[in-house]
Amino acid sequence: MSLAHGRPYLAIPGPSVIPDRVLRAMHRAAPNIYTGELHDVTRSLLPDLKRVARTEGEVALYISNGHGVWEAALANVTSPGDVVLVLATGRFAHGWSAIAANLGLEVELLEFGQERDVDPERVEEALRVDKEGRIKAVLSVFVDTSTSVKSDVGAVRQAIDVAGHSALLMCDCIASLACDRFEMDDWGVDVTVTGCQKGLMTPPGMGFVFFNEKADAARETAQNVTHYWDWRPRTGGEEYYQYFDGTAPTHHIYGLREALDMIFEEGLEQVWQRHERLAEAVWAAGEAWAVEGPMHLNVKDKSARSCAVTSVGIGAENGDRLREFMEFEMGVTLGIGLGREPASGWFRIGHMGHVNAHMVLGLLGCIETGLSALQIPHGSGALDAASSALVGH
Ligand SMILES: *Cc1c(COP(=O)(O)O)cnc(C)c1O
Repeated sequence: MSLAHGRPYLAIPGPSVIPDRVLRAMHRAAPNIYTGELHDVTRSLLPDLKRVARTEGEVALYISNGHGVWEAALANVTSPGDVVLVLATGRFAHGWSAIAANLGLEVELLEFGQERDVDPERVEEALRVDKEGRIKAVLSVFVDTSTSVKSDVGAVRQAIDVAGHSALLMCDCIASLACDRFEMDDWGVDVTVTGCQKGLMTPPGMGFVFFNEKADAARETAQNVTHYWDWRPRTGGEEYYQYFDGTAPTHHIYGLREALDMIFEEGLEQVWQRHERLAEAVWAAGEAWAVEGPMHLNVKDKSARSCAVTSVGIGAENGDRLREFMEFEMGVTLGIGLGREPASGWFRIGHMGHVNAHMVLGLLGCIETGLSALQIPHGSGALDAASSALVGH
């Protein structure tokens, strides 16, 4: 006997829950790829993606996951031997660094640990030292999904400006687009990369690179640009085929169209607010559990917590035990500990995209049940705290 039978809930930080509306939009016969509706729908995605990223710049579409657009973004603005300054608050920054190194770039790593956000003063210092202007770009991960640390990307831009440096500001917004408030143009981000499978609620398979004129000027001299990753033909060339450099991801296009409709029907501001309120419930529960026993939220400083994902330490082995209990007894999949030692002492909760109050409360109730069943010591009152946070007091 298992209590897990029923609708499963994938509560991991991506891929996220796919709304029924998105599934239905994708459930259709193979469409005509030469002409007609598919072309119109694809074109309609461009302005709406820019609206979500809050940019007037360009967006290039790729058949790719996040790793692909990491490479795409770097390829368009760098040449072998260029230096990139990587701001690391978790494992995803290291992933992006590895791709940079493979492209022949020299990686300068600023490490901020796994529990704290980027300190803009250290960024400013690192740029001031670079008198020859060798640093081509600053790579920042807005929310590092492994740690759930969120950094102030606007403050990174200010640090670059105060240092009087010309480096591009590139931002990985894969975890948190349409979850945490993100303002590409206002914050002075030159290149943003994201994927469709997190806040955008679509199955993995499409990636996006947003870029402004300054970044496109760097594209002129970039030697790392390759045929497939070149962003220029993808921003609305004459030929429909250029959007994808080959066959379009037909069903993803319909799915993403529906997901964007859902976001704008709710309102982007309201989407951000919903994420914030749901995240506050998760944090309230986490803080209550932390009063006794080994559990603790990874990020202490509330302003450095993401509204899309929460990383929780729970003591060696307990993370694995809890995840297993949740999977097989409760029908909820929790995220694994990523980049932590030991990984079995951590789990992550995805609260991104198509998630509402009853899902989060159900999830927290299941965790509470697991803690008791597995006799993992924990503070009491987590669900009371979460309900109070949900109604705003
Ligand atoms: C998910 C994620 C990635 C990787 O995306 P993939 O689609 O798995 O390649 C990169 N960066 C961040 C911040 C992410 O959350």
